[in-house]
Amino acid sequence: MHQPLEHVVVVGASLAGLRAAETLRSAGFDGDVTIVGDEPHLPYDRPPLSKRVLSGDWEHDRAMLRKPEAFTELDVTWRTGVAATGLDTAAKRVTLADTTTLAYDGLIIATGATPRRIPGQEQHANSHVLRTLDHSLALRDELAVGGRRVVVVGAGFIGLEVAATARQLDNEVVVLEGAPAPLIRGLGAEMGAAVAAVHGDHGVEVRCDVSVEGFEPDAVVVAEGRRVDADVVVVGIGVVPSVDWLTDSGLELDNGVVAGPDLHAGAPGVFVAGDVANWHHRVFDEYMRVEHWTNAAEQGERAAANLLALASGGTTTPYDAVPFFWSEQYDRRIQFLGRAAGDDEVRVVAGSVADRRFAALYGSRGRLRGVLGVNMPRLVMPFRSHLEQRIGWDDALAVADELAA
Ligand SMILES: Cc1cc2nc3c(=O)[nH]c(=O)nc-3n(C[C@H](O)[C@H](O)[C@H](O)COP(=O)(O)OP(=O)(O)OC[C@H]3O[C@@H](n4cnc5c(N)ncnc54)[C@H](O)[C@@H]3O)c2cc1C
Repeated sequence: MHQPLEHVVVVGASLAGLRAAETLRSAGFDGDVTIVGDEPHLPYDRPPLSKRVLSGDWEHDRAMLRKPEAFTELDVTWRTGVAATGLDTAAKRVTLADTTTLAYDGLIIATGATPRRIPGQEQHANSHVLRTLDHSLALRDELAVGGRRVVVVGAGFIGLEVAATARQLDNEVVVLEGAPAPLIRGLGAEMGAAVAAVHGDHGVEVRCDVSVEGFEPDAVVVAEGRRVDADVVVVGIGVVPSVDWLTDSGLELDNGVVAGPDLHAGAPGVFVAGDVANWHHRVFDEYMRVEHWTNAAEQGERAAANLLALASGGTTTPYDAVPFFWSEQYDRRIQFLGRAAGDDEVRVVAGSVADRRFAALYGSRGRLRGVLGVNMPRLVMPFRSHLEQRIGWDDALAVADELAA
């Protein structure tokens, strides 16, 4: 690009977008920054939406990502409550739903992801999804009194966190999962079942291999027309990247916005970050889209730093961090570093599954691919550098032995 930036537009007013804007300012960029977000709120944090905000332990303002004065001091133009509807990469212009256009010389796409719904779920009188603060507050109103029959469809992380919170508020909770095991996508079948076993301890039934056939006002209908009674239904069956507004942009769209290792999206001055980015990870040598907090925060920073580097004639830096996420269910803190695939070898290296406190390594083709910890933080994080260096499986087992000793 090689020309000074004057106006950077960030689309998506959440974690990745905020971190991008903060990075621009902390690096000394003093041009215009506009942040566009279709929600009415300034950036807030999503992890508490299924945990402390949903349980009522936190008032919703505690979930804001910054104090009000920090949002002001960032010295950006906030365009909240209005969606971006189009992008012209040749003219370098973003169109908004109110028909205004924003010219940019740098653009950061951070539009995240949108929850999937099941066609017909609205036939239930009280069905929910959970992605936004408003979703969380609406669901909290339903769960807070307790004594409701809650059916969660989908035993992924969000579904199981909702199940745990709903149960802790004294509701009767059943989880329905179509796959043969809970958490299969994130952890594989064996460890997914091991992690989710804690729900049984708390009286939550997780039923797998269940196909949801439809909805009635007070029930979820499963195979053979059987009904599972429900006062409240929460559908947590994953998300799709929010790219509808980019359909005519010419950017490559495939499971999100496709980007190179440095998050550059292929058009001049355009970078992508967070849940919407499908970028080439050099260490794992695959395109990946990661739907977790640390990735969104770090990619927001990296996208902005790379935009500035290109504009000043410098070189960009790839984003190669090892993916990481955590989840909280009851008193268990689950952490996962790396990537899990269905055919990985999995070995418990510390603690025991029966005690619901353990660490396990994931490996494939003689290399370590991931580390899972349940209430075992000291066994997980030390593997970050080992995963970056693609440590061999036997060496990883030896490291685990040392850490566990
Ligand atoms: C309930 C919940 C709990 C979670 N818990 C954890 C956890 O425990 N651990 C963990 O690692 N991760 C967790 N996550 C995931 C984490 O919150 C996300 O990875 C992170 O929010 C992604 O940030 P982002 O900025 O990329 O996208 P998002 O947070 O999705 O933000 C994108 C923003 O862009 C807006 N937008 C979309 N399209 C447009 C448009 N066309 N124009 C303008 N604005 C638009 C969206 O409305 C949204 O505000 C959780 C997520 C949820 C929903």
